[in-house]
Amino acid sequence: MENCLFCKIIKHEIPAEIIFENEKVLAFKDITPQAPVHILVIPKEHISSPEEISEANSAIAGEVIAAAAAIAKQQNLEGYRLVFNCNEIAGQTVFHLHCHLLGGRKMNWPPG
Ligand code: 5GP
Ligand code: ZN
Repeated sequence: MENCLFCKIIKHEIPAEIIFENEKVLAFKDITPQAPVHILVIPKEHISSPEEISEANSAIAGEVIAAAAAIAKQQNLEGYRLVFNCNEIAGQTVFHLHCHLLGGRKMNWPPG
């Protein structure tokens, strides 16, 4: 989608530190890391938020989570947190579905 930051990263129009890529999914380092490991895992298909996931396209959500879990394993993370922010009130700033993979430090609960 035009004017979508993450679609531009997928098309290599904006540089990113890519960690993993396959046909359906791209993973790259977050530019403002909130943990020693902070990787964003996104579908290559433009889906704006978790709200846009339906039965018709839900397989991609599984692909994103499976990729995040594989990356966490490859990074030797003992534990990790996966976060999907949905809408501004929950902290979503980029409206292309993304899974935050956070690890490498103790995580607090509840989150802020
Ligand atoms: P959100 O706040 O929408 O859940 O997450 C968006 C994330 O994208 C933020 O953690 C932010 O640091 C990251 N981000 C924003 N712009 C860029 C960029 O140009 N490159 C990379 N690698 N990450 C970005
Ligand atoms: Zn997009």
